[in-house]
Amino acid sequence: FIMSAPGIIRKLSQEVVNRIAAGEIIQRPSNALKELIENSLDAKATNIIITVKAGGLKYLQIQDNGTGIRSEDLEIVCERFTTSKLCSYDDLKEINTYGFRGEALASISHIAHLTILTKTASGKCAYKASYENGKLKGPIKACAGNNGTQITVEDLFYNVIARKKALRSPSEEYAYILEVVGGYAIHNSHVGFTLKKFGENTDLKTAIKSNVLENVRVIHGNSIARELMEIQLNDATLKLLLHGFITNVNYSHKKGTMLLFINHRLVESQSIRKAVDSVYSTYLPKNAHAFVYLSLELDPRNIDVNVHPTKHEVQFLYEEQIIEKIKSCIESKLLSCNSTRVMYTQA
Ligand code: ADP
Ligand code: MG
Repeated sequence: FIMSAPGIIRKLSQEVVNRIAAGEIIQRPSNALKELIENSLDAKATNIIITVKAGGLKYLQIQDNGTGIRSEDLEIVCERFTTSKLCSYDDLKEINTYGFRGEALASISHIAHLTILTKTASGKCAYKASYENGKLKGPIKACAGNNGTQITVEDLFYNVIARKKALRSPSEEYAYILEVVGGYAIHNSHVGFTLKKFGENTDLKTAIKSNVLENVRVIHGNSIARELMEIQLNDATLKLLLHGFITNVNYSHKKGTMLLFINHRLVESQSIRKAVDSVYSTYLPKNAHAFVYLSLELDPRNIDVNVHPTKHEVQFLYEEQIIEKIKSCIESKLLSCNSTRVMYTQA
């Protein structure tokens, strides 16, 4: 019989490696936007304006009034692993910025056309630069501009054909974008957020120095905001700080909303979601859900933000104990407003 010949092992070119890595970090426009919002927050912005075309697939722009980027750094800012936030591996233990890997801008520049317009407070003028595959494309140009940074991402996934085909619906992508912007606007209520589709009216706008309740009202409506109760918990042994707003038992919705922040990062956690649902299931009609905004602060030493390339899932120690605490905190709050509960349990 004929044996088939073994494949020849070759090293992939750096460009292919980078494009594959980029596709893992940036899975859809809302992932790219989340990274960009986090960069603006890291840069101490107090106002962030986002403009989108075709669900961010065609055009995604974010303008902030943060520190800006020094013109001498513009040459390397989009290379992989260039960051102003992390110096040594040990810094990771106590990192208090969103970013640290220096991969976001690099990744985006490998799968989109990226342009930066930025000005620092001490800079004489603004500078504009375009990037491709992590590298500057053309010269850096001096120009007029406000303090802060404007990043424009065009034709996302133009060179990742399979991904582009998989993401066909701009309106679905826009919904994800709305979710991310809404979440960060609620959690960072001191920062003003604006989201609009290019050439259309503003879809979302929160004021600078607003508060969580007001922003929930602006974004999700008064029918939710008026039913919210504040919860708070501080557990020294677990090094857990919990703050949140949850709807009382008068409110229920067939889909519900769960906004979860762990150390200020918007994340998903199936186990926390299930736990919260299980508490509410006693009080709400069948298949109905609550609106829940939870902000957990854990000892950075106890969480690993590096388990997932998009940093979407985080792993933390003492998960079971922490979830028990969250459940009992919500449970006791719901019990304290149990007038309608009687109605449901008797039904
Ligand atoms: P990271 O956030 O992990 O450092 P990024 O690729 O997201 O990596 O960004 C690289 C660097 O570019 C940041 O460390 C920061 O110095 C600079 N930067 C990016 N976005 C902004 C912004 N909006 N304002 C000021 N600096 C920025
Ligand atoms: Mg970043």
